[in-house]
Parts: sequence; C-alpha cells; structure tokens
Amino acid sequence: MHEKMNLLKELQEIDQEISSIEATHKGYQTELSGFDTETGRVQAMLDELNEELEALKQDEAQLQQALLKERDNIKKVEGRLPEIQTQKEYVAVLKEIDMAKKANKELDEQLQAKLQEIATLEQDQQEKQTELSAIAEKADARGAELGELLAESEKALKQRKETRKSVAEDVPAPLLRKYQTLFKRRAGLALALARNGACLGCNMQLPPQQFNSLLRVTELQTCPHCNRLLYVEQEV
Ligand SMILES: [Zn+2]
Repeated sequence: MHEKMNLLKELQEIDQEISSIEATHKGYQTELSGFDTETGRVQAMLDELNEELEALKQDEAQLQQALLKERDNIKKVEGRLPEIQTQKEYVAVLKEIDMAKKANKELDEQLQAKLQEIATLEQDQQEKQTELSAIAEKADARGAELGELLAESEKALKQRKETRKSVAEDVPAPLLRKYQTLFKRRAGLALALARNGACLGCNMQLPPQQFNSLLRVTELQTCPHCNRLLYVEQEV
C-alpha cells in the first residue's frame, strides 16, 4: 500500500502543478486577448465619432454655401439702392435688405453652433486616438513579455505531462481512474491525510475502527464522508 500511495502522492503533486501552470497560462492568454478587446472597444467609439464628424462637416459645408448665397443676395439688393427713384421703392428695398440680413444672421448662428459641435467632437477624437496609441504601446511592450511567458509555461507544462505519464504508468488502472475522478471532483485534492482520528480532507471524524486499521492494514481506504483516499504519516 505504501508504494501505491507514494506513487499517488507524487501524481497528485504533479497534477496540482499542472493545474497551476494551466491556470497561469490561461491568465496570460486572457491578458493578451484583453489588448485586442480594448483596442476594438476604443476603435469602435472612434469609428462612430468619425462618422458623426463627417455628417457634421457636410452640414457645415451646406451652411457655408447658404451663407455665401445670402451675402451675395444682400450685396445684390444693396447694389440697387443708388438707382432707386421713389420713396416707396426705397422702403421696399430696405425691408428686403433687413430680411436678408436677418436670414444671414440666423445662418451664421447655425454655423457657429455647428463649428462648436465639430470642435468638441474633434477633441473627443483626439482623446480616443491618444487612448488607442497608449493601448498599442502597452500591448507591444507587455505582448512581447507575455509571448515569452506563454512559451515558458507551455514548455513547463509539456515537461510535467511527460513526468506525469511515466508516474501514472506504474499505478494500477482502476486505482488511477478512481484517483482521477476524485482529483476532478475534489478540486485537486484526491488524497487526504488522516490524523488524530480525522480525515484532513473534509475535517470529519473517521470511525475509530477505520482509523486504527489505517495504521496497520495494507489496503487503500477511502474517507466515508468525502470519499478521498486516506493515508497516514509514515513512522520513521
Ligand atoms: Zn474526508
């Protein structure tokens, strides 16, 4: 029994290492893909801003055009002033100029508001671009590190898996299956030390008879509460 139990202990140690390396490896991968996610998120906002800006600039161009036309119109009407003959005509032209100027003023206000909107969005655009380059810079620096770490953990994983294979080969198949099921079901702890009459895997008391027989009998025993394979500390 001691020999089998020692093999299982060795196996559990390797399996715990493998789990830990796999978790670390996954963490590196998550961190690495996080840069892509972050870039995508900011890029999407930037794309939206660009689209909005394009629409605003089209509005601006239209307003500029309308304003030019209105200014032209004022000049044209004002040009008629020297040729006016009657008071009535004079009043009518003045009224026309006044209306054109009002229209002009309204257009100008709309244009100023549009320009303000554009300036605000352009500032947002600048900020997003800065954010993007910051992410890219970080991804470059950390990405290289992560690449190395990933390669290292892959190498370590390969090594451990080879060792595991050679240890597992010496464990009888039914026992290996039992151990593997327990390892998964009991969160990486298939074996439990029994001490002072209790299973340290689940901290429950073992039947006194079972504990006593553990000290003597050469068969493998399982805890009646958590089902873990029990072992006792070897007397030196
Ligand atoms: Zn137990």
